[in-house]
Amino acid sequence: MTELTLDTVTKRFDDVTAVNEIDLAVEDGEFLVLVGPSGCGKSTTLRMLAGLESVTDGRILVGDDDVTHAEPKDRNVAMVFQNYALYPHMSAKRNMTFGMKSAGEYTDDEIEDRVAEAAAILDIEDLLERKPKALSGGERQRVAIGRALVRDPDYLLMDEPLSNLDAKLRIQMRAELAQLHEELETTTVYVTHDQTEAMTLGDRVAVMNDGQIQQIAEPQRLYDYPTNRFVAEFIGSPAMNTLELSLEGTGSGARVSGQNVALVLEDDAKLDGYDDGTVVLGVRPEDLVPCPNGEARDTDLTATVVTTESLGSSTIVHATVAGQPLVIEAPARAEYQPGDRVDVTCDEDRLHLFDPDGGDSIY
Ligand code: ATP
Repeated sequence: MTELTLDTVTKRFDDVTAVNEIDLAVEDGEFLVLVGPSGCGKSTTLRMLAGLESVTDGRILVGDDDVTHAEPKDRNVAMVFQNYALYPHMSAKRNMTFGMKSAGEYTDDEIEDRVAEAAAILDIEDLLERKPKALSGGERQRVAIGRALVRDPDYLLMDEPLSNLDAKLRIQMRAELAQLHEELETTTVYVTHDQTEAMTLGDRVAVMNDGQIQQIAEPQRLYDYPTNRFVAEFIGSPAMNTLELSLEGTGSGARVSGQNVALVLEDDAKLDGYDDGTVVLGVRPEDLVPCPNGEARDTDLTATVVTTESLGSSTIVHATVAGQPLVIEAPARAEYQPGDRVDVTCDEDRLHLFDPDGGDSIY
């Protein structure tokens, strides 16, 4: 059953179109991540799902029920905010129960049981009497999540819940969130601008830009088959390289050339219409493999090293090809000096080609 549907939903603030006719179906029990750069409309989408923001056009459905104009309290939805939004003068437990008590729908025993259950899941049983200022960032975030869980919501909405935590804690909480979702299977929509968080948490990831969903897919599919240049460059770190190249005819294999760039593509059918034109070549840094000296083939790229960074597990080589930047993820302890020439090879099936104007994937 489809749990949550956005049907051509638009949100306008005066002359700003924050969300532009988006369609989205979140499956029952799914963890769906909305990811995109600042201002792309992620939070507005989430707030419309919560009922905190009105919908300009389109419909929001839970199952078959149209909730487009329903009040937040009538949606059985729980939201976790970036800043936790805990009441400072209340204990952790009171923060968790406050909403339930004021709703008046639960007996005291039910509330006690639910708090005990959520506290056990989140491992915060010993913290329940503390006020937020006596809790660490990670503990506060657990309490905020606990407050969302005690209500046993139909769906859980999370708006950048980890972004106020330091890097180490963020990684730990990320793993905890994944585990929590595995246990509870609550339908979740999670907003982040962090593509690593999106890739590691999402059953599916929706990449947004300019108020529109660019692509929705399982993380690995998004990574391997980005539908356009925006998705290709947004997902992955270091980012996919993109090089503007001129095509020199097609036929037995397209020869993509530009100064010292020469690549032969086996299947040039999709390049029809681009003959002797320009295309954008996309290749991920880890798919570029330095060739041993003297073993370069005519399908390889020859780059000039600008600088290197050692990450311990690999070496990031910043280079140029035909005057354009190229990042290569080379093995650990690879030693290059500025000005060195490095031949790199790449499996043809790891290459991407994009339309130079719209950025759509063409290969
Ligand atoms: P961030 O990651 O920075 O939070 P976002 O992707 O969540 O960004 P939104 O907060 O949804 O983006 O904002 C989308 C667009 O709508 C932005 O251009 C923003 O300035 C605009 N916007 C959001 N809220 C309002 C508002 N209340 N009034 C006017 N414009 C708004």
